[in-house]
Amino acid sequence: MSETLLVSELFLSIQGESSYAGRPCAFVRLAGCEAECAWCDTRYAAAPEGDPMTPEGIVERVKSFGVPLVEITGGEPLEQPPAYGLMSLLCDRGYTVLLETGGFLPVDRVDPRVHKIIDLKPPSSGAACLTQNIELALEAPDELKGSYEFKIILASRSDYAWALELLRRYDLAARCTVLLGTVSGKLSPAELAGWILEDRLNVRLQLQLHKLLWPGKDRGV
Ligand code: SF4
Repeated sequence: MSETLLVSELFLSIQGESSYAGRPCAFVRLAGCEAECAWCDTRYAAAPEGDPMTPEGIVERVKSFGVPLVEITGGEPLEQPPAYGLMSLLCDRGYTVLLETGGFLPVDRVDPRVHKIIDLKPPSSGAACLTQNIELALEAPDELKGSYEFKIILASRSDYAWALELLRRYDLAARCTVLLGTVSGKLSPAELAGWILEDRLNVRLQLQLHKLLWPGKDRGV
């Protein structure tokens, strides 16, 4: 009998973030996250409460949506050990698998076929930023470097200065995909766009497409 995972929600939507933005995607939102980021927009999934499902049961639900792209998100998906096997099972079944992680845990045990979208938390989040995942990405063989994306969500100019320093220290934007976005209501995407242009940053400005498509809808998108 497989171990079960606690699932907060499982739904079909348009991928709103990352370099896969705009594509239909099945989302598996796992429950539970021990981090307490100031700007968390999925706080309802932070408690370890949800529907227990086996990896095979989750794959069956994903299959019912009929799309080839699936994202494992949370909460913090890596807090549930069976998530590793779930991602491998989805890869085995031919899915393109995205992992969205808060970046507090190393991704070294994640199946290399998984495309990892890793948060780097700036100071205003109140959370610590784990740089170990940057080192893992930079040390990865060339053919796997493209499976890492780093996402930095900024609330202020001082967060931006922090991000600039981090990008420069690792020459990160030249070596990996870097997504910069803003905390809704704290920093306007247009202001961030201006800074990116001024500094000629080789990053991707990320708008949360699902929030533009379905404003005010917090769940299931
Ligand atoms: S890691 Fe993600 S889910 Fe967890 S508190 Fe931070 S933003 Fe919320």
